[in-house]
Amino acid sequence: MEFKNRSFGILGAARSGIAAAKKLLQLEANVFLTDKRPISELSIDDDLISKIVYKFGDNSDKLLDCDTIIVSPGIPLTIPILKNASKRGIRIISEIELGYQICKKTNLKIIGITGSNGKSTTASLIYHILARQYKDVILAGNIGSPFTAYPLETGKIKFAVLEISSFQLDTIWQFHPYISIILNITPDHLNRYMDFDHYRTSKSRIFLNQDENDFCILNYKDENCTYIAKYCKAQKIFFNNANGMVHQERSNIVIKMDNERIVIPKRKIKLKGPHNLANIESAIYTSLLLNVEVDKIIEGIVSFSGLVHRLEYVDEINSIKFINDSKATNTDAVKYALQSYDKPIVLIMGGSDKGEDFSILKPYIKNVICLILLGETAEKIKNDLSKKSYGQTNIPIVFVNDMKEAVQRAYKNAVPDSYVLLSPACASYDQFDNFEQRGEIFKKYVRELKNSIIAH
Ligand code: ADP
Repeated sequence: MEFKNRSFGILGAARSGIAAAKKLLQLEANVFLTDKRPISELSIDDDLISKIVYKFGDNSDKLLDCDTIIVSPGIPLTIPILKNASKRGIRIISEIELGYQICKKTNLKIIGITGSNGKSTTASLIYHILARQYKDVILAGNIGSPFTAYPLETGKIKFAVLEISSFQLDTIWQFHPYISIILNITPDHLNRYMDFDHYRTSKSRIFLNQDENDFCILNYKDENCTYIAKYCKAQKIFFNNANGMVHQERSNIVIKMDNERIVIPKRKIKLKGPHNLANIESAIYTSLLLNVEVDKIIEGIVSFSGLVHRLEYVDEINSIKFINDSKATNTDAVKYALQSYDKPIVLIMGGSDKGEDFSILKPYIKNVICLILLGETAEKIKNDLSKKSYGQTNIPIVFVNDMKEAVQRAYKNAVPDSYVLLSPACASYDQFDNFEQRGEIFKKYVRELKNSIIAH
């Protein structure tokens, strides 16, 4: 792709859009930046503003004069201006694709991670392991800084670990990871995809441009992963496979190498739950493919404590432990959260709707002694759980108005030696700016509750 004197329209002036604008300016392209939000709601520095053409507060038809449009993952491709642009043959790409176009002639190796759940955790873990062995590794995409914020054109970066959402994959073109990972494919974002098949196809785009010199790491126990594997031309490696070179035994993760058995005791691993052990297996395969020494892989795994807002331990009040899993924005994440604790659980759920059927949680709520429901989906969750499918449930349900009440009522309904788990199964936008804010507010009310109990 040529950059100098070419015109790029950027739709969406959030972090990745701004990074793309800055990079394109460096590459002497002409940049038009637009966002439907007014400038007062955006954080764009004056220097950038002075160097580009822009239109804020409204999407502008000027996009239709550009050679290429870079679209933010938050914007559906079905909006009129984008439909119009594709009719006219204007290429619409994601910021990840732009990054790829900039680095494709260098030796940078891309490790692309997608899936419905576990992307951030696995990408961070892989980065954490690779950084023990190599200097020039970056973590980018949906986590850390945007891909184009890095000096991709210089050839100095050796490995880029990229967390990639389905929305970003919808607008790739030549994007070509050396290793792609599909952790799992379960219902999510059904409010944006026509149906589950479209969502699954979107995930499979991560290996679209891979060939037999590349690797694709897939989940053996996920039927949607094994289904799309048929269409993958890269060398396939399945994790979560009892017969795999990396596999789990009762209390260990085992790596079979030549005639050796390398053992990582599960008790040494800080990440909780069966889903995280699967994430770890994919990270081990990736690290081995990239020639990381086994000792460094093990050190990396046992020293990794996970990310905030994912099964994050918050505090303990009178033997009741509080866990913040605010990032659990779909039922599959909640399913695994519930399998990660073997004590009674008071579960806080609810938020903004992504079109899921919550009744699939029924087989997993055996340990739940009380369900606290808040937000837009509260009523829907109750109704879904009372459907006949998956058997009957008689868990007491408490409706609350806000997070403060949720924490207080959860504590009242908990028993000694139990957990209060915020694992909402929904997005956060009905009551919060994002999942981070939801998690922080939960933690704040847990601390307040603890202080008020100590004070009495
Ligand atoms: P993502 O970036 O894909 O949203 P995260 O690592 O941020 O994934 O985790 C999001 C939620 O999914 C958390 O609640 C986490 O505990 C859960 N989770 C992590 N890995 C998996 C997995 N392999 N399968 C199901 N849920 C998972």
